[in-house]
Amino acid sequence: MTMAQNPMISVVVPMYNEEEVIDVFFEAITPVLRSLTDNYEIICVNDGSSDMTLPKLIAARNNDPAIKIVDLSRNFGKELALTAGLDFATGDAVVPIDADLQDPPELITEMVQKWRDGADMVIAVRSDRDNDGWFKRKSAELFYRVAGRLSDTGIPDNAGDFRLMDRKVIEALRAMPERTRFMKGIFAWLGFKQAEVTYARPKRAAGTTKWKFWKLWNFALEGIFSFTTLPLRIWTYIGFAVSVIAPAYGSFIVVRTLIFGNDVPGYASTITLILFFSGLNMLGLGILGEYVGRVFMEVKRRPLYLVREAIGLELEKEER
Ligand code: UDP
Ligand code: MG
Repeated sequence: MTMAQNPMISVVVPMYNEEEVIDVFFEAITPVLRSLTDNYEIICVNDGSSDMTLPKLIAARNNDPAIKIVDLSRNFGKELALTAGLDFATGDAVVPIDADLQDPPELITEMVQKWRDGADMVIAVRSDRDNDGWFKRKSAELFYRVAGRLSDTGIPDNAGDFRLMDRKVIEALRAMPERTRFMKGIFAWLGFKQAEVTYARPKRAAGTTKWKFWKLWNFALEGIFSFTTLPLRIWTYIGFAVSVIAPAYGSFIVVRTLIFGNDVPGYASTITLILFFSGLNMLGLGILGEYVGRVFMEVKRRPLYLVREAIGLELEKEER
């Protein structure tokens, strides 16, 4: 392991309209990193911000050249912004962190300790979600329960993207080419020697959350559909059940007609069955469509993100 006295530590920060927190963020994180090593970099990914985020980053870089900037061509969303940052990071250990100080930088000290003790991935686990709203808390709980049941690897509860990863984990991560990037799922799939540190998640330092209801909903669907093909299999079982029940019911009707004759009843039951099964059909098609759509997105082989400018970083590592 590259466990030098002075390991290179990379911090990766996706930023979308974070002008209000940038200065506080650097004030908080720089002393922590300086106390750990002489050799660090803070890779800030400007995810198509429309405010003063980029000029503020450039100003901050004038004071500390360890601050490096990846300026994306537009807003790609947190997951892809993070991917871009991880691609550029060169550290022996790499830590993705939110800009709004909801991921406390002090925790990095503890993470580095566990990394030095031999863990490849040190996950920050929230001990509570009191500072999230009721709705976000409940929906997160439900999501983790469903996703955990559906997938083989499971997604650890209450763990976000905030974690420390060894270089070998980063290389493994970089070898995953898919464009539907549900980071929590990808992290869980990787495995490696994991350790945890716990913390209470504070409120945003300033600014507002970038998540809206639909975004969260789509994020949750993304999590399930990009992570497991189990919903496809449900249709095999439903189809099986129907094909077992249908002949039985059919025989019942035939026998009943032979015995009691046919008085042409059954309008209500026919309509009910037609509606029910066409509903099921459409649902099945929709779920199939979710996967076909994802296959379509993947085969286009577009780059995951586009870099407008990389300041202080080698450009050869550009988009993939
Ligand atoms: N973020 C981003 N692109 C986006 C949305 C968010 O890079 O499209 C960044 C944002 O600047 C912040 C982090 O992702 O550093 C987490 O965002 P936020 O605090 O809004 O999410 P929450 O903490 O409410 O889950
Ligand atoms: Mg936040």
